[in-house]
Amino acid sequence: MDYKELREQMVRTQLIPRGIKDIRLLDAMRRVPRHLFVGSQNEYSAYDDMALPIGMGQTISQPYMVAIMTELLELQGDEKVLEIGTGSGYQAAVLAELSKEVYTIERIEALTESARERFHSLNYGNIHVKTGDGTLGWPEESPFDRIIITAASPKIPDPLIEQLAMGGILIIPVGSRFSQLLLKIKKTKERLIEEYHTPCVFVPLIGEHGWGKEG
Ligand code: SAM
Repeated sequence: MDYKELREQMVRTQLIPRGIKDIRLLDAMRRVPRHLFVGSQNEYSAYDDMALPIGMGQTISQPYMVAIMTELLELQGDEKVLEIGTGSGYQAAVLAELSKEVYTIERIEALTESARERFHSLNYGNIHVKTGDGTLGWPEESPFDRIIITAASPKIPDPLIEQLAMGGILIIPVGSRFSQLLLKIKKTKERLIEEYHTPCVFVPLIGEHGWGKEG
C-alpha cells in the first residue's frame, strides 16, 4: 500500500476542496503517518474520510475534523499547546509538527501508553503525555498559548480558560452528548471572544468539568 500517495489523495480530495488553506498544515498532514496511529486491522482505512475506532470505545477523528480544528488554532510555530483527549496521538502529532511543545492528557491509561510508544518510535520529542482528567488542565505547565479539546463537552471547563494565555486561542466541541458545534474562543484582557464553526459529533469529555460518568 502506497501510504504517501493515500495521504496526498486525502489532502487533495478531503481537505483542500472543503476549504483548508494553511499550507504548513496541509504539508504536516502529508507527512504524519496516520496509518501508524490506528490498529493494524484499520491500517488500510486510515486515510478514508471518516473517524475510526481505536479501542476502549474511543475514536480517532476524521482527517477533515483534525484539519479544521488545527487550522482554527492559527499556529505559527512557537506555541505551547495543550490537547485534552490524546486518543491515538494523531492530533498531537499534527500539532507537534506545527508548534513548539505539545502537552496532551488522556483519561484512559491504555491509550496514553500506546500513544507514548508511538511518539517515541516516531521521534516526537516535543510531545509530553500523561494520564488524568484533562478538564482540570495541566496547571504546572500553564499558561498555554493554545488549547484544543478533542472530546465533546456541555461547556468550556473553567480551569482551561484560566490556563489559557492572554491572547490565546481555545477550540472545543460544545453541545449535547450527541451533536456539537466547534467553538473557538480568543482570550483578551476585556473578554472572551466566541466564534461558532462547523457541526460535529465527538465522544464525550468525561471529568469534573465535563460530562459526569453517567452523562
Ligand atoms: N485526539 C485523538 C486522536 O487524535 O486520536 C482523538 C480523541 S477521541 C475523539 C477523545 C478522547 O478523549 C478519548 O480518547 C477519550 O478517552 C478522551 N477523554 C474523554 N474525557 C477526557 C478527560 N476528561 N481527560 C482526558 N481525556 C479524555
